[in-house]
Amino acid sequence: MLRLYNTLTRSKEEFKPAKPGQVGFYLCGPTVYNDIHIGNARTFIVFDVVRRYLIWRGYQVTFVQNITDVDDKIIDRAKTAGMAPAELAADYDAAYRQVMEALGVLAPDIQPHATAEIEEMIKLASCLVESGHAYELEGSVYFDVRSDPDYGKLSHRDIDQLKSGARIEVDVAKHDPLDFAVWKAAKPGEPAWDSPWGQGRPGWHLECSTMAAKYLGLPFDIHAGGNDLIFPHHENEIAQAECCGDREFAHYWLHSGMLTIDQAKMSKSEGNYLLLKDVLQIVNPQALRLLMLQTHYRSPFDYSPARLDEAKAALARIREALRNAEWKGGQADLHAACATARQAFQEAMDDDFNTAQALAALYDLIGALNKSEGSGEAVDTLLELLGVLGIDLRSSAEDAYSPAVVPLAAELTGYPGDIAAEAVELLLERRAAARADKDFELADRIRDRLAELGLGIKDTAQGSRLEPL
Ligand code: AMP
Ligand code: ZN
Repeated sequence: MLRLYNTLTRSKEEFKPAKPGQVGFYLCGPTVYNDIHIGNARTFIVFDVVRRYLIWRGYQVTFVQNITDVDDKIIDRAKTAGMAPAELAADYDAAYRQVMEALGVLAPDIQPHATAEIEEMIKLASCLVESGHAYELEGSVYFDVRSDPDYGKLSHRDIDQLKSGARIEVDVAKHDPLDFAVWKAAKPGEPAWDSPWGQGRPGWHLECSTMAAKYLGLPFDIHAGGNDLIFPHHENEIAQAECCGDREFAHYWLHSGMLTIDQAKMSKSEGNYLLLKDVLQIVNPQALRLLMLQTHYRSPFDYSPARLDEAKAALARIREALRNAEWKGGQADLHAACATARQAFQEAMDDDFNTAQALAALYDLIGALNKSEGSGEAVDTLLELLGVLGIDLRSSAEDAYSPAVVPLAAELTGYPGDIAAEAVELLLERRAAARADKDFELADRIRDRLAELGLGIKDTAQGSRLEPL
């Protein structure tokens, strides 16, 4: 039985989707005004794993993630960069997709852009005004938090408690300082759309209330994001959606913990700030995922270079076990060990997605595999379950054989083709032949040139093979 922790009820609940076998899943996406950092990446990895696990458990999942492509930060950055806001947003949108693909995060089934959904958003804003839950002020529309008896239910605070913790804008004549912008009047030169209140643009929260309802229907099953979004973003999404429509918005609210670096909050001004694209220069995506999944998703996650190195080493051990298994000639019945691992994996993931425990189940199976003479079904089981965590090692051989081996094989062996695996084979054969001929100069040259590509030669009783250094 799958149980998950619901921020709304502050308890682990049995997962029962509104429509049996189907899951509507909404994850707040990025505001595309810069490259994403590794904190964002943690949240996107965590919910990619939740999604993959639900699929593996047999659910038909519809996964929606928005792109916020109009926002104050986009407008400010565009001004500084001397670009049109839409142009800047399109660039970072493309960069975001690219880096998610590199990380092995599955593309959303539906990825709506805020600027393409303005009409629907105006409908919701109008409904809020008509029903007395929002009011107009100088061309903007504000949500009246006092009109909503449920306001604060996700944060588990009442309006007065929330107010004491909030940064309060004093310059607008709002009814209550906590009232938030549903629609913002346009300032000169900003992107703007026509509305019943004049030219303007949607408030951030309006976007998610609208798109989730449009693409998933209400109520939908899972709404997720980092726990920094609980208040005000998610609280406000609920308020808008539930005050118009009289239906529950989302049933299960999942929130990931924040990533820190060396125990400190990420901060550009303090210099401890890492972009995902820069981290992917020094670590492969599988090792980064392995690192992040060692911690439960709701706990804070502390990143450090030392932990990154440990994860690289852990991944190398997993790869080593899988490669050795391919080379083992003996017989092994690992059926029982596989069944145990599978069950332990599922029990761990069923318990609010305990990935650390799930990895422990996989390490047990790797231990059994390392001790045995053959591999049985263990390799397939490991590849499958690692795949549920988005750690794809099926293509590890090709990963190891960078395309740069092809020109090297052409140069040193005259290889005419373009298949990395063949190129590697020829290079290894040529080196073996050189060693047999006592041409150590050539054998060493082949070894050194491969090392320049980050590939080491491993000589085993069964022959030689390559692996990442
Ligand atoms: P943003 O573009 O700031 O709205 O963030 C996109 C997603 O990343 C949201 O789900 C945030 O909750 C999440 N996020 C932002 N900062 C962090 C962090 N330091 N650690 C984990 N998740 C984060
Ligand atoms: Zn959102």
